[in-house]
Amino acid sequence: MAHVVTDNCIKCKYMDCVEVCPVDCFYVGENMLVIHPDECIDCGVCVPECPAEAIFQDTDDQVESHWLDHNRKYAESWPNILRKGLTPPDADEWNGAPSKLAEHFSPKPGDG
Ligand code: SF4
Ligand code: SF4
Repeated sequence: MAHVVTDNCIKCKYMDCVEVCPVDCFYVGENMLVIHPDECIDCGVCVPECPAEAIFQDTDDQVESHWLDHNRKYAESWPNILRKGLTPPDADEWNGAPSKLAEHFSPKPGDG
């Protein structure tokens, strides 16, 4: 099992999560972060740090199964991120917006 980042991270990207991860398994895209499921030790300390409540265990009933593949796929192509960067200025406006994956996700890498 592992934890995964889901829809509500998109365009929020607060990045509080990266500072607490003991195994540095977050990877950064242009407008969201993902967790490498094979590196995550399932400690759960990142969950309460996320202001967008976007991180869940992959087996959580609220998590659609495609999120595990999404996290693994992009963790393998985006750069690792170890320190919190700048939160987008409009992050709070996007917090809770619907259909972010379908309408707003960017597959481009971010700055590690
Ligand atoms: S704290 Fe939450 S919203 Fe921010 S980057 Fe991490 S998972 Fe995404
Ligand atoms: S559950 Fe633990 S190991 Fe996994 S991403 Fe969160 S802080 Fe890192």
